[in-house]
Order: sequence, then structure tokens, then C-alpha cells
Amino acid sequence: MVATEQENITQLFEGIRQDFPLLQQDMRGKPIVFLDSAASSQKPQAVINAIDTYYQESHANVHRGVYELSQKATDAYERGRALVRQFINAPSDEEVIFVRGTTEGINLVASSYCRKFLSEGDEIIISAMEHHSNIVPWQMACEFAGAKLRVIPINDRGELIMEEYEQMLNDRTKMVAVVHVSNSLGTINPVEEIIEKAHQKGIPVLLDGAQAIPHMKVDVQKLDADFYTFSGHKMFGPTGIGILYGKKKWLDAMPPYQGGGEMIETVTFEKTTYGNLPHKFEAGTPDISGAVGLGAAVEYMEKIGHEAITAYEAELLQYATEEMQKVDGVRIIGTAGKKASVLSFLIDGAHPYDVGTILDQLGVAVRTGHHCTQPLMDRFGIPGTIRASLAFYNNKEDIDRLVAGVRRAAKMLLS
Ligand code: PMP
Repeated sequence: MVATEQENITQLFEGIRQDFPLLQQDMRGKPIVFLDSAASSQKPQAVINAIDTYYQESHANVHRGVYELSQKATDAYERGRALVRQFINAPSDEEVIFVRGTTEGINLVASSYCRKFLSEGDEIIISAMEHHSNIVPWQMACEFAGAKLRVIPINDRGELIMEEYEQMLNDRTKMVAVVHVSNSLGTINPVEEIIEKAHQKGIPVLLDGAQAIPHMKVDVQKLDADFYTFSGHKMFGPTGIGILYGKKKWLDAMPPYQGGGEMIETVTFEKTTYGNLPHKFEAGTPDISGAVGLGAAVEYMEKIGHEAITAYEAELLQYATEEMQKVDGVRIIGTAGKKASVLSFLIDGAHPYDVGTILDQLGVAVRTGHHCTQPLMDRFGIPGTIRASLAFYNNKEDIDRLVAGVRRAAKMLLS
């Protein structure tokens, strides 16, 4: 019998958990079911090894030394950048800035772009489903400049109301900043359309790609995004490293975000001239081992392949959704037509925290609360959700253990 495409994909992912040492351990005396990858993913051995080898064989400070070891470290760091550049299909290494993560990527743009381009009476558009990291930096920039923050509303399924968005765009709009995939709902936003509509009026768009990059192919040129930012730790890389991609025309026009070593050309007490991209935005000693680890994560993901990852996870999310819908009293929050890897839900009459605590006792790790999206929770009139978030190292047995745990929690909490 010829195996179907889906069977082949399932087979491909069967052994993948072996690549993740942490997933071999127990939690609460049971094999761990890790369903909190939206908060931070686990790391494959290849990433751990790359960081280990870097420290054992190549560490020195980058960009400054003439000696061989410093050049080796610089090569390793810049190789990480080049790997990310081709991963997201950015036109050049100059447009790939190392930052601490998505939060810093957004803060960099909100601070630097807005200092140059935002004035009193201007507007910035975000959406109702943003993570606090894509709200607060813009609020701060607006407060500083006397500008206004406008918010694209969503419908009850958790989808952006695009007609309202189009009506918001005007001559005063200086930036549109939206999440590619929602961390609380799983909604995949129509980012191509968002960008196209903004560009028709000459407005740049920043995408928060924190929850998209681990699950789907991101091609910044195809998207035509002006800025795209994400965190290494959510895509199987280390913590403390992330990426801000920006179009050269914007990055050249923006002032540096932080001052210090590495980002200068010449310094006198009278005047400093700044270095070229990307170094202009990378003040101080960077996270060299982080860049090496992120590069290894990129190589690891590419070896598996985006198409397979997306197809496998779509099937798993569908299975999880169907199984969860069978549980009495469960209400799924976020039922958009296009979703990725997040299943948020509530048990009517039970507090999310209590459900999470019972699941923990059963060896199932989920997140409960507002997921750093308080305005979104307000929109749904709920204090928070229970969120199971998937990665390609999860499987149907994980879902079965989750659903059995949710049934048990419902029985315990509601009887
Ligand atoms: N945006 C989204 C959509 C996220 O899910 C997260 C992390 N939960 C962030 C931004 C912030 O990422 P980090 O904490 O890695 O900077």
C-alpha cells in the first residue's frame, strides 16, 4: 500500500522528540507533555551543541581583534546573521539586526523611528489582539510625541475587521504595527492585505512575528514588510537573542537606538559618527553565543522543512480542536478561519488557574492567564484562558493526555 502524504509527514515527526533532551524527562512523575511552546520552545541537541562548541573552541569578543580567535568568533556571529538572512529571505545582512527578542525589536523601532518620524497629531495603528510588547512601546512613543494610538477591532471569532482597518488609514498614519499570528488566539492575520493597504498610502508596516516564525515560512520580501521582528527562544533557539529585520531605506533614515561601543565610526567629545548597518543598531558586546545558537536553530528547522512543519502542526491543531470540542463545558476562545498552533479555551464555571494546576499534577504543562494580552481578554470579557500551544515535537498522545486532563479537571472543579 502506498503511504499517503499525511502518513509520511506523521512518520517524519515520530522520532523528532528524541532530538530534544528536556522532553525525555518526567514532570510530576509522568512523561512530560509540554504544551507551552508559545511562551518558549524547547531546544534540540543541535542547538545546545552549537553553543557548547562555540564556548569550547571559538569564544573571544567580536569585530575588534586582529588575532585568529577573535576572527573565528566574528565569523561564527556573522554566520548566524547570514543564516537568518536567508531563512527569512532578507535582501542583505545589513537589514538583519540582532536584538534581545521581539520586545526589543519593537522597542527599537518605536523609539528610533518615532523619534524621527512621529509628530503631534500623528497616528499609529495596532490591533485589538496585540501582545503587550506591541502595545506599550507605541503608547510610550505616542505619549512622547503627542500622537494617537488607534486600534483595529476584531470580531467574536478573533479576526481583524478589515473594513474598519481600511477606514483608519489616513494622512496622519505613520505606522501600522500588527501581530502576524496571535499568541492568545492562534489567529493568522491577513498580513499581505494589511501591508498592501498601508503601502497604498505610503505607510510602513511592522509585523510582530514571534508566533509565526516557529510555524510557517516567512519571506520578508514576498510580504513586503518594512519591519519584521521575532525571538530566537520561540523558534528552538536560545533565550536572549532575536531579530529585527528592517528595510534599508528605513534603517538608514533612523537614528541609533542605543549608543556605545561597536556602533560608532569615530568618536570625539565634540561629535560622534555612527557605523554602518547593521552595527549602527548593535551597541555593546552582542550575544555572540546566542547568534550561534539561533543559526543552529535555523539550520535545524530547515532540515525538517517548513512545508512539513506547517502541515503536521495543522493536522495536530485540528485534532486538538475536535477532541476538545467533545468535552462538555469547554469553550474555545479564538475560532478564526485561519489559525496556527494555539488552542485557548475555558471550562465554564472553572477558573483557568485551577485547571492549569490540575493539569500540572498530571504532567501536562499549559499556560493560564491573560498571556500578555489584557486588552484582548477585556474584549472577550474574560480574565484569561487556558492555552495549549503546539510545536512539531508534540503528537496526538500529548493531545489525548491534555483532553483527558481537562475532563478530569472539569469533573473535579464542577462537581
Ligand atoms: N509578541 C508575541 C505575539 C509574543 O507571543 C511574545 C512572547 N510571548 C512577544 C511578542 C514577546 O516576545 P519576547 O518576550 O521574546 O520579547
